[in-house]
Amino acid sequence: MEINKYTICNSPIEKRSFQNQEIYIKRDDLLNPNFSGNKARKFYYYLMQDFPNIKKVISYGSNQSNAMYSLSVLAKIKGWEYEYYTDHIPLYLKENPIGNYKYALKNGMKLIVGREKPKRENIENSFTAFVEEGGRQQEAKVGIKMLAQEIKLWQQANRINSLNIFLPSGTGTTALFLQKFLLEMDSRFQSKVYTVPCVGDSNYLKLQFKELENNILKHPTIIKPKKKYHFGKLYKDSYEMWLRVKDELGVEFDLLYDPLGWLTLMENKQIFKNSTLYIHQGGLIGNESMLERYKRKFK
Ligand SMILES: *Cc1c(COP(=O)(O)O)cnc(C)c1O
Repeated sequence: MEINKYTICNSPIEKRSFQNQEIYIKRDDLLNPNFSGNKARKFYYYLMQDFPNIKKVISYGSNQSNAMYSLSVLAKIKGWEYEYYTDHIPLYLKENPIGNYKYALKNGMKLIVGREKPKRENIENSFTAFVEEGGRQQEAKVGIKMLAQEIKLWQQANRINSLNIFLPSGTGTTALFLQKFLLEMDSRFQSKVYTVPCVGDSNYLKLQFKELENNILKHPTIIKPKKKYHFGKLYKDSYEMWLRVKDELGVEFDLLYDPLGWLTLMENKQIFKNSTLYIHQGGLIGNESMLERYKRKFK
């Protein structure tokens, strides 16, 4: 499917049931097969506008990041060069390309390995766009505001006066802007955003929120998981939760963030006292490499 600013809009909201709890799912994984999830929302700013002078986009982060891949799609659509800085590529991955790494290279990404990560002030000029790791920047507001509008309109149409929203966080950009914009819209319909930190702890996530929005009244509510999970590590209970969700809902979620999302949501059933909406943030291409790692670790 061709991607343009019109094809990235209004993903469906589906009603499902999980372990006897009714739950709605916002299917941002269905925005577009190649450009989906919260990275499509965060990079919508770049997709919807023409940037006649820009020739190149530069970003940095880990070697299997969903943002890395989504930017390769964006660069291809725009006809931009794409340089991506990462600290290392394991030999195994180099010899057996898979997942986001494989498809980003196919889209023409130029990798720069082992050098110091670039800084916005040294890079950005009228020919070069600079994107922070994971798309954590103010530009993300444009697409996440659209997400908030879609949710609010759905709430109004279905007369859901009080909605609880749940999504797992990395940088926290999606959860933060979503809560902020929902609060700034029609206040007869309330929407409260809950999130779990997947990278770092609650204090790290609070700091991330503060850097993007000073007013803490507009911050999402952070819920800690009962057990400590390290980002990117493989856990049997994570995999089992992922599988259970897939079987029971018939929806595949990402294996990096969403298992902790679902585990934490199910540890906090009080959230379900209001209608509850889980945001599917995409990331399915990353499952290719995650599944392979799980297979190698647990057989
Ligand atoms: C990037 C990503 C996240 C984290 O999003 P933040 O806005 O950084 O909190 C969560 N889930 C998936 C599937 C992602 O790709």
